[in-house]
Formats: sequence, structure tokens, C-alpha cells
Amino acid sequence: MRKPIQDEFTTLQISRQRKYQLRMQRDKRCTECGEPAAQGSRCLKHLVKARERQRKKRGLKRRYYGTLSYKLESMDATS
Ligand SMILES: [Zn+2]
Repeated sequence: MRKPIQDEFTTLQISRQRKYQLRMQRDKRCTECGEPAAQGSRCLKHLVKARERQRKKRGLKRRYYGTLSYKLESMDATS
């Protein structure tokens, strides 16, 4: 039987998913897939996904091409 992870989040009364996100943030990893984070708390792939999700939600028509995720995207055209 595997031992459960014991760290500062183990005893918190929060969901397993939230604990996972907190651990990823602590380790500078993407909170969604665990890849090394490009910026903030997400990898480039999920940075873009989050951005597009926000756009849809807010119904924005403009795109802010100076935004970091666009710059990273153009730097790394393979993903
Ligand atoms: Zn990710």
C-alpha cells in the first residue's frame, strides 16, 4: 500500500484538486498538467487555454498582442 503524501497541505480541509493545485504552485508547475510553468501558475499550453476561456466568458473582441502568452506563443510556434 502506498503512503499518502504528507506535506503542509495534507491536513487542510480543501478538495484534492485544490491541494494538487497548491502543490503545483509551490513547485512552479502548471496547475493543470504538472508541466514546468512558463509564467505564473500555468504552462504555455494552459496559459493560452485559460486566456481563450476568459475571452469567451467576457465576450472580448480585441486581442492584446502585447500580452505575455502571445509573445511566448510566437516564440514557441511548435506547441
Ligand atoms: Zn499545463
